[in-house]
Amino acid sequence: MHGPRSASTSGPAWTTPDGCLGRAVTVMGLGLFGGGVAAARFFAERGARVTVTDLKTADALAPSVAALEGLPVTLHLGGHEPADFAAADLLVVSPAVPKDSPYLAMARKAGVEITSEMNLFVEACAAPIAGVTGSAGKSTTTALLGAMLARCRSTRVGGNIGKSLLEDLDAIRPDEVVVLEMSSFQLEDLAALRTSPHVAVVTNISPNHLDRHGTMANYIDAKKNILRFQGPDDVAVLNADDPQVRSWAGEAPGRVLFTSLHEAVEEGVFADGGEAVFRLGGREERVGLADRLRLRGRHNVANALAAATAARLLGAGTDQIAEAAAAFEPLPHRLQPVGAVDDVRFIDDSKATTPEAAVVAMEALAEPIVLIAGGYDKGSDPAPMVEAMRRRVRGVVLMGATAERLARAVGRGGPAVERADDMPSAVRLAAAMARPGDVVLLSPGHASWDMFENYEQRGEVFRRAVDDLTEKGSP
Ligand code: ADP
Repeated sequence: MHGPRSASTSGPAWTTPDGCLGRAVTVMGLGLFGGGVAAARFFAERGARVTVTDLKTADALAPSVAALEGLPVTLHLGGHEPADFAAADLLVVSPAVPKDSPYLAMARKAGVEITSEMNLFVEACAAPIAGVTGSAGKSTTTALLGAMLARCRSTRVGGNIGKSLLEDLDAIRPDEVVVLEMSSFQLEDLAALRTSPHVAVVTNISPNHLDRHGTMANYIDAKKNILRFQGPDDVAVLNADDPQVRSWAGEAPGRVLFTSLHEAVEEGVFADGGEAVFRLGGREERVGLADRLRLRGRHNVANALAAATAARLLGAGTDQIAEAAAAFEPLPHRLQPVGAVDDVRFIDDSKATTPEAAVVAMEALAEPIVLIAGGYDKGSDPAPMVEAMRRRVRGVVLMGATAERLARAVGRGGPAVERADDMPSAVRLAAAMARPGDVVLLSPGHASWDMFENYEQRGEVFRRAVDDLTEKGSP
């Protein structure tokens, strides 16, 4: 980690035992991903006067509100109160809060110190940090890297993957290693610290979250903070197969290592058949990686190469890396096998909320596919997904707001199309279309909000419907 500590009272002062005793801390954005709860608990346990505020109601935030029970925190939910911003000593802002929020402006005007859950952690963390970002593959790469490192040293995994490490802060020793998934919003905030992780891993860049970042240039700019403030001893692991990511090498202040599925890179790790070839510091090592990976698809081989590079740098041996990769199960809702009936396997890829992600899933499978797709209409262009459907699937069951549009686009001459009103009927219809050896793939290519709370719930409902079939299908 490189770069000066900020000159203000932020960081260690706040994270030391006496740093916040009796001071007013407002947590803006409780959310449901754990960061808000962790920040509130962190400061409440240190004796600060904590107010948690969110535009959403207590009902909408029920699991997070329950997690705060028993803690001395004041809740202002279902709206914000100006005094919580103007009169705070510290404002901890969720990465989901838009930068043009008038309440943020109020705090700025009143000279209130502003930080984020991740910045508090990064600034005070005693162990080296490997940060992982990219438009797709962050969680998988983060979890893989964590699993590889755990075979050689004490490792903590957190950040945008859904676990705040703030609560671990006091326990983390300098000889441990921390793997952090970092979103573009979190990286945007990280610039305030003028700090980047010791090891920065970038999987790929494609248009994402442009509603928030405004332009692709802003989005890229935020992502680049993962390496912008690195020092000469720090390392950037860049995907050479992605022209945008590859081009960042010229701006990296530290050492650059490349990963590639296609190219024998000079410094870094590349795929050669089922093997990974490590070329680091003039040495070459090989180990079976792709051929041992349980995860499906070339995109996951790319994720494994990125994780392997960072893991090797941080002390894992090639055998440890390969063993961890071989034991690694897909994360929930990412090409995750959830059952089989009559030699038809069911795969949950509910995380595929964009047409591009559904294409990745269809390409990842070798078997004939019966696809369950459709969902909330974000206005994305389904053309690439429709093209892959025409090429790759035996049949498709469409549901949700985009069902009609997709059905029209698939048109005559394409795969057989069915319509379903709910997930259990979709699963039954898909099972009826499938032949032995086929895969029934839930990879909707759309968000879930028209019919479900989120993609996780959509995946759970799919799994339950598959369980029901399995029970009925068994003798
Ligand atoms: P993230 O945390 O960035 O959302 P995940 O690891 O959760 O990434 O994967 C989410 C989805 O993104 C996967 O289901 C897959 O469709 C797609 N994906 C994952 N890795 C890659 C990759 N390296 N390249 C392209 N798409 C990918």
